[in-house]
Amino acid sequence: MIYEEMTKQIREAAKRLLKEGAVDVILAYRGGGLNEMQVPFFVKKPEDAELIEWGDRCYQNLAPYVHGLNKKVGILAKPCDVRAIVQYITEFQIERDKVTIIGVDCIGMVDENGNARPGCSECRVHKPPVYDEYIRDERAANLPAIEPKAGETTLEENLERFQKEIDKCILCYSCRQACYGCYCKTCFIERDMPDWQPAEIDTGTKITFHMGRAMHLAGRCVDCGACEAACQSGVNVRYIIREVTKFIEDAYGYSAGMDAEEPPALLTNKFDDKEFGFLGGERHE
Ligand code: SF4
Ligand code: SF4
Ligand code: SF4
Repeated sequence: MIYEEMTKQIREAAKRLLKEGAVDVILAYRGGGLNEMQVPFFVKKPEDAELIEWGDRCYQNLAPYVHGLNKKVGILAKPCDVRAIVQYITEFQIERDKVTIIGVDCIGMVDENGNARPGCSECRVHKPPVYDEYIRDERAANLPAIEPKAGETTLEENLERFQKEIDKCILCYSCRQACYGCYCKTCFIERDMPDWQPAEIDTGTKITFHMGRAMHLAGRCVDCGACEAACQSGVNVRYIIREVTKFIEDAYGYSAGMDAEEPPALLTNKFDDKEFGFLGGERHE
């Protein structure tokens, strides 16, 4: 019933924006996916807005569709999607006035068996931090706060965990393809001076890819879980990216995608910035 009411409000907002000419297209969801999953839907005519559907199977992050788009776009966005859009804005990938955000509260997405999708069970942001239109879900206000767990593991345990995950990786790059933040035209792993990617896939190459990717997402990961969901080998190295996120939050008080006016932590260089050695190393003041 709640999703039906929210769907009604979303359809009305979409119709209005299209009729007013505020947007050329609305990116949203409709039914009809595999196992009743809601799938991406591009709405260009006001009457088609009646097909929009909102529910707990709208898992796909629509933000990558607006990357580099040179149209006036409206986008139905969950909080993690909003954070990705905000990152695009602060990284100069899209212009704020070209995107109309229909921000929607989200209590979590589930798979066909009702289990929480990757990212959702640890989600800390259930309300869109930035929006032009807002669709409320009363349930989002009452979810328990989740704090990142403090790591109390030994170096050996960390290495063992990492090795276990890395061994499963077949280096297919689906995690990179699914990530809103991996938009480089040529990924560092595919540059050939030096050659980061030998023909034979070995552990070193996998480590180079995953550690390089974690560093490139420093202060940029929006915790959507899309990388983990895309991996057919069941690899979970997102915990490393989360450690890097926590480091950036603790060190610079910056959380990705929460404020369209705030420049990303790694795009700013202030004289009074704290200086650290490589993660966990000596601090110099
Ligand atoms: S990560 Fe959070 S905002 Fe994103 S779909 Fe899951 S619960 Fe919703
Ligand atoms: S972690 Fe998974 S999705 Fe990413 S490259 Fe390895 S096998 Fe592919
Ligand atoms: S690294 Fe994974 S969880 Fe983070 S933004 Fe990319 S796809 Fe989402």
